Amino acid sequence: MTRLAPFFLAAALAACAHQTSFRCEAHGGAAWSEYRSRHFVVDTDANPERAARLVDLLETLRLLDMKALVGDELEIPGRVRVVALASDFAFRDLAGNDLGGYYRLAQFGEPTIVIPISAIGNGAETLAHELSHYLSSYLFPDQPRWLNEGLAEFVQTLASRPEPLQEALTGSHMVGVSKAPRHSVGRIPENLRQWSASVSPIPMRDLLRWGGAEDRDVPGLYHASSWLLYHWLWNQRGGQLTDFQKRLMNGEAPAAAWLAAFPEYDPAHPATLTALDDELDRYRRGKGAVSYAVEGTADVSFDARPFPPAEAHMLLLSVRARWPSEPAARNSLRQDQAAEASREDPRNPLAAVYRGDPDGKPDPQALRSAAEGAPQDYRGWLLLSSAVAGAEKEAALRKAIQLNPDSARAQNELAWLLVTSDRAPEALPVANRALDLAPWNAAIVDTLAEVAARLGQCTQALQLEARAVSMRPADEGLRKRQAEVAKRCTKS
Ligand SMILES: [Zn+2]
Repeated sequence: MTRLAPFFLAAALAACAHQTSFRCEAHGGAAWSEYRSRHFVVDTDANPERAARLVDLLETLRLLDMKALVGDELEIPGRVRVVALASDFAFRDLAGNDLGGYYRLAQFGEPTIVIPISAIGNGAETLAHELSHYLSSYLFPDQPRWLNEGLAEFVQTLASRPEPLQEALTGSHMVGVSKAPRHSVGRIPENLRQWSASVSPIPMRDLLRWGGAEDRDVPGLYHASSWLLYHWLWNQRGGQLTDFQKRLMNGEAPAAAWLAAFPEYDPAHPATLTALDDELDRYRRGKGAVSYAVEGTADVSFDARPFPPAEAHMLLLSVRARWPSEPAARNSLRQDQAAEASREDPRNPLAAVYRGDPDGKPDPQALRSAAEGAPQDYRGWLLLSSAVAGAEKEAALRKAIQLNPDSARAQNELAWLLVTSDRAPEALPVANRALDLAPWNAAIVDTLAEVAARLGQCTQALQLEARAVSMRPADEGLRKRQAEVAKRCTKS
């Protein structure tokens, strides 16, 4: 996610006090449209000119991000969805006041970026930042949080304005470039420019095991510290950083990869990390860091279609980052939106399901009629599959995949169904496809481990289980699965 600088927070809070949230087309709001380009599905209520500008920017920044990350164009399966809200207030209603944009897996695990359309203006660094999150989750499926944010902050400056702000205003004189070329990577990111040199970075021993929550006293400090670490590594330890990233790409666990690439900074010996803290402190007070330019021209063509109000309601529900804290208020928000969507389109399968009792057990008959009422919508079949068994479950999953082959969740569930009904050879290509689509997903790694175990490939099965556990160390269920596969493998 992109954190706004504290300065922007006060302004955002003040401005949105009297604004209301989302109003759909059927109730006097703007019409939504969906734009499909080579790598994106953009859903927006912004006007066609701004939407076209957004598609252009997204395709271009994706190409440049990729060049900055791996020096080349790498194909990634599927498309990423981008939800772009015409109104900044509607965006804040979803996101809260301290985010400029965010990347998340929305309902059914779909990779999704949520931004205000105003990001095509001054906020283009936010787009480059969120795109980096999306791309790096494919490149480094199991990555430490500091790398995830440090990398995103590092590459986002390729989208900064051609005439940089006065970087000396930050109080840090680290980057001595006054007129950097367009699309240059490695400058001070816009959202960190107000980070004063008087605020000390997070110590390495905490940063290396950062779980994602921001510093309470100085929001954004973990992001800033991650950037500083990445910036220093890139500039001062280029070869070792490349080695570290290669190890992550090959599926090594982050802690092992760190130790192999940077043996001089061993978290088991705190004094070595203190030395790194001192090094970084000197670095941020110094000057003359190097930035580099990336160039490229992307295919920015697209198709457009109207996006019905019922879809807009359900989409906004599925990408919402901020929910009321009271369960009752959460449920009524969900049910109200679903009920309105249902009135606008009685055949919308998601609306039909979510307007019901959130604590009630899904009724297979209701799911069946929802799926059959909108037979071209993969989500209806996927929902149905979760409530039924046997041949009906398999048929529903196959239908979902036929309609949307890019759904990692549908592929994974079919693979699991096949492997657990003694059809491991049939499950193998399906599980592989699921992992191609969502390599960061530990549940899919676990499915593939099960397939390998049942095909008699125990070494691979155990490696995969170890990787799944490394990706989600706190998940007890995965640890049990690891133990169970290990037990079966030693028996045979
Ligand atoms: Zn981020």
